Parts: sequence; C-alpha cells; structure tokens
Amino acid sequence: MIRMESVTKRYPDGTKAVDRLSLEIPDGSITVLVGPSGCGKTTTLRMINRMVELSEGRILLDGADIRDQPVNALRRSMGYVIQNAGLFQHRTILDNIATVPRMLGWDRSRARKRATDLMERVGLDASLASRYPYQLSGGQQQRVGVARALAADPPVLLMDEPFSAVDPIVRKGLQTELLRIQAELGKTIVFVTHDIDEAIRIGDMIAVMRTGGELVQFAPPDELLSA
Ligand code: ADP
Ligand code: ADP
Repeated sequence: MIRMESVTKRYPDGTKAVDRLSLEIPDGSITVLVGPSGCGKTTTLRMINRMVELSEGRILLDGADIRDQPVNALRRSMGYVIQNAGLFQHRTILDNIATVPRMLGWDRSRARKRATDLMERVGLDASLASRYPYQLSGGQQQRVGVARALAADPPVLLMDEPFSAVDPIVRKGLQTELLRIQAELGKTIVFVTHDIDEAIRIGDMIAVMRTGGELVQFAPPDELLSA
C-alpha cells in the first residue's frame, strides 16, 4: 500500500503545488487523481517515485518511508507512463519494450519473449514488432508505453494523462484494456487525469484535488456522484 501523510510540495520558486495531502492507495486498485490543470496531480504522482522530492510530510510504501530505500530500487518497482508515450524513436517497438528487462540483466531472447507476450497483452498486433514509433497511431504508441511500463513486472504503475492525447473512441478502448490488465495482473495503479468522466469510468477510488494542491474528496465513484 502507498500511504501519503500530510504531504506538501513547495517548488524552489515558492509555488505550493501540493498542500498537506493525505491519501491511502490500496493495493491492487486503480486510484485516480483528478482536478483542473495546475492543481498538483503530476507533482503528487512524481513524488511517489521521487522524480520530485517532497517538502513536508512523508510517503510510505508497504510501511517503509520511500526516502529510506535507494531511488533506483524504488523506480524499478514502479512503471511510469506519460501522455505521449515517451518512446525511444530510433528503436523498434519490440526493442522499446525489451529495453527494460535488458537493463535488468535479462538475456536477449528472454527479454524479447517478454516483450512479445506484453504486446499481445496490451492488444498490439505482432506484425508491429519491427516498426518504429512514428509508424504507429497515437493509440498504438500509448499501448507500447503501457507494455514498456509493465515489462519489469512492477507491482505499481504510475500513469500521467496516458490517454489524453488520443481521440475519444480510441481512449475508451485503452481504458477498457487497462481495466482488463489491472484485473488480470492485480497492479496498483495511480492514474492522473483532468477528465472526471475518465476518472469515474476507471477509478476504484477517486482523489479530487483543487487549485492550490489540496485534496477535496477521496471516495469511490458512486459516493462521489452522490456527494
Ligand atoms: P497538474 O498535474 O495538476 O496540472 P502540476 O503538479 O503539474 O499540476 O503543477 C502544480 C503547480 O505547480 C502548478 O502551479 C505548476 O505551475 C507548478 N509547478 C509544476 N512544476 C513546477 C516547477 N518545476 N517549478 C515551479 N512550479 C512548478
Ligand atoms: P488511428 O486513427 O487508429 O489512431 P492512424 O490513422 O494514425 O491511427 O493509423 C492507422 C494505421 O496506419 C495504424 O495501424 C498505423 O500503424 C498505420 N500507420 C500510421 N502511420 C504510419 C506510417 N507512417 N507508416 C506505416 N504505418 C502507419
């Protein structure tokens, strides 16, 4: 479980991006951070894998302060997916996905096998393996991004507006796919979006934030609707 205890982030220029945020993110669930642009969602997500260091409070992962473990080990336990997939443009789709297990020291054929399996899992046709990212649609690229984040089999997935740049119909397909993957693999997913409909569709728990970085509500979708 990820537990945030009164976490505050102040950037060096004085901007308070997150203000005393407390949250418990249950294992094996999808928790969505939602709120308007600039309300501190990305900052919150990046504090969990220490791409951003918090200013006050603490974050516990399975009871241990995330600052007490090596940052590399922490990041290895958390896949990270961003809006435009952030793929390596000069590498094939298969290599994009296989790079992570290769970095973990897997031999080439095992890494390729893993990448092939993951392509199937995220709904990418095997014929795309030897293509390059620019040859894929936006939706396909996001699938590659998800496959790559899953490659080292991390228990946690951090996803920052992963489907916001694809058109609405493709986005629905990706959301359905993510729900299936989560049900099959039991990942703990923290998902950032500014789209409340997307939050309600995929979230087990929804954290509503407001400008200034405060948490307004933390509830399952049905309770949110009745609030
Ligand atoms: P969101 O993801 O909800 O759009 P962010 O976490 O990106 O929000 O940003 C929260 C606030 O912190 C905003 O006011 C933003 O301008 C500010 N901010 C983000 N990154 C930095 C930074 N590196 N330095 C200073 N201010 C920042
Ligand atoms: P969508 O509208 O489904 O998001 P596109 O219209 O961009 O996708 O692409 C449709 C199909 O054409 C996809 O299967 C994609 O792989 C393929 N494709 C797109 N651009 C290229 C390209 N430059 N070279 C080869 N195939 C491409």
